[in-house]
Amino acid sequence: LRNTPSLDAFWMPFTANRQFKAAPRLLVSAQGMHYTADDGRTVLDGTAGLWCVNAGHGRRQIASAVERQLSTLDFAPTFQMGHPIAFEFAERLAEVAPGGLDRVFFTNSGSESVDTALKIALAYQRAIGQGTRTRLIGRERGYHGVGFGGISVGGIVSNRRVFPQLAGADHLRHTHDPARNAFVKGQPEHGADLADDLERLVALHGAETIAACIVEPLSGSTGVLVPPKGYLERLREICTKHGILLIFDEVITGFGRLGAPFATDFFGVTPDLVTAAKGLTNGTVPMGVVFASRQVHDALMQGPDGIELFHGYTYSGHPVACAAGLATLDIYREEGLLTRAADLSEDWASAIHDLLGRRNVIDIRSLGLVAGIELEARPDAPGKRAYDVFVDCFQRGLLIRVTGDIIALSPPLIVEREQIGEMVEVLGAAIDRVA
Ligand code: PMP
Repeated sequence: LRNTPSLDAFWMPFTANRQFKAAPRLLVSAQGMHYTADDGRTVLDGTAGLWCVNAGHGRRQIASAVERQLSTLDFAPTFQMGHPIAFEFAERLAEVAPGGLDRVFFTNSGSESVDTALKIALAYQRAIGQGTRTRLIGRERGYHGVGFGGISVGGIVSNRRVFPQLAGADHLRHTHDPARNAFVKGQPEHGADLADDLERLVALHGAETIAACIVEPLSGSTGVLVPPKGYLERLREICTKHGILLIFDEVITGFGRLGAPFATDFFGVTPDLVTAAKGLTNGTVPMGVVFASRQVHDALMQGPDGIELFHGYTYSGHPVACAAGLATLDIYREEGLLTRAADLSEDWASAIHDLLGRRNVIDIRSLGLVAGIELEARPDAPGKRAYDVFVDCFQRGLLIRVTGDIIALSPPLIVEREQIGEMVEVLGAAIDRVA
């Protein structure tokens, strides 16, 4: 194996570990829409890295900005000091902030953004005299990273099974009918009453115990679950009615994935807090962010308890990450990338939906430039079909992502129409061959 003297010391995310060691796949360079594998093959990036390289790979502008920043100011402690580029980046972000949530807190990842947003929500409730509100609500099949906060509100039982969780966390139902998947099938007329499940939790626990409700506007990594019509609107209504903060986790949907800068803009529903990461720096230097409303920010800054909130990271607002982020925002603006998915989404949807007739394809979802293709699970080996498709695609030069038997596609937002055709062709052929 070239480039890797030993695989033993490298501990991958747990789930990937065994598969990878059985059949290592290495990516050694990247440019534009393509990776190069260690055997020299060119691989079309159907996943924007891991939903993050929205402007494509190898952007010189970002590399130069990072290099410049490293040689000017490589680090500054943000606990008692500031540095100009963090303020500049925060200001520029405020201009594109989702739903006008223009108060910006920097973190280093999606998981940290989620934990930060949950802590802000709890501290805010306390600051406004609602200290009994300590409960956090997520949703079944939600993914919010791997911090203790994120796994507690996250809706994937296996991710939290062996770990302690935040007391009082509970989850909205993902569907009325476990045999059908409301998000998957779209059931437009049922969006609002599915969201009424929050009323069930309010009745069960008491509104005075609930601080916040967090959802992905469109769930990405658990299988591209498109919310039924009216769902997010009704969640907003119920949260407002009961004094519950609404948090949108936009780690995947943020920065143009759906065809608007944020899903918040796309769906026209404004939460109180938004988390983002990934596309914030085009997947280059790790960074996350929490956007908050002025109301939340001001209450925390002025409230009698403000001093009790200790939170922040050594690398919050790291100058090199800020430089990468500023250059990324420039590219997004210059190339119109934050709305490009809207121009392509019809062609994208029709290309992807052509796969519906293939063997063992049981559902297709798409929105903006993201799609989920669900395969019928093999009863004897759940996940095997999609994994085989993943391997076949990779061998033939296409990178896709699979979770269970769901295939996800989310190409960089610079994708050309011909490349969409190429993706669907390679994927379709792989499904025919091995699914
Ligand atoms: N929230 C969502 C919606 C995500 O998709 C992810 C990552 N896929 C996270 C949080 C966690 O982000 P990270 O892996 O950067 O910690």
